[in-house]
Amino acid sequence: MTDHETPPTETPSTGNVREPSLVLINTGDGKGKSTAAFGTAMRAVARGWKVVVIQFLKSGDWSVGEEKIGRQIGIEWWVLGDGFTWDSDDMDESQAIAREAWQSAKVKIESGRYDLIVLDEVTYPINWGWVDVAEVVSSIRSRPEKVNIILTGRDAPEELVEIADTVTEMTKIKHAFDRGVMARRGIDY
Ligand code: ATP
Ligand code: MG
Repeated sequence: MTDHETPPTETPSTGNVREPSLVLINTGDGKGKSTAAFGTAMRAVARGWKVVVIQFLKSGDWSVGEEKIGRQIGIEWWVLGDGFTWDSDDMDESQAIAREAWQSAKVKIESGRYDLIVLDEVTYPINWGWVDVAEVVSSIRSRPEKVNIILTGRDAPEELVEIADTVTEMTKIKHAFDRGVMARRGIDY
């Protein structure tokens, strides 16, 4: 048992399990899912990894911050969504674009060319029934062994949680937005 009042006396269990790659999920309703994924992508780049980010939802003008720096440091960056659904006047088109984004992600996973693939906001098209969760699971399960994957988005489906190695739920304690504070450049995008 750990408490917070005394320093640790036991050595933490040593990691002696070697996995060629990991699957991570950042979910929950608090802020930090995507930014944690991009932070990890930065680490990956620092280790010389080839990284691709595929954003399933954010519209182009929102992602300028992370996309700009991401590209500068050699991350391949795809924004295949056409914005949030409530911005969309053509639901069928959104659905088709989300499917296309997934097909392209699938090809990238299978290619084995990447050390890290970030599927940002991928839980939404899955939860809306636009992208088949079974297909995502099977593609992740059968991926080339060195391909690490990070998935982000609220309400990660149980099927994905099951196959992931590390799952973090961001819990909202407070969010400025609840007071009507708009998304802020430099903080939110
Ligand atoms: P971030 O990209 O800042 O890490 P996130 O990926 O955890 O956030 P998303 O649900 O993807 O969260 O949020 C998209 C946008 O909404 C971001 O600008 C984010 O800062 C903001 N946001 C995140 N959580 C909340 C929340 N609980 N209420 C309102 N806005 C939020
Ligand atoms: Mg996000």
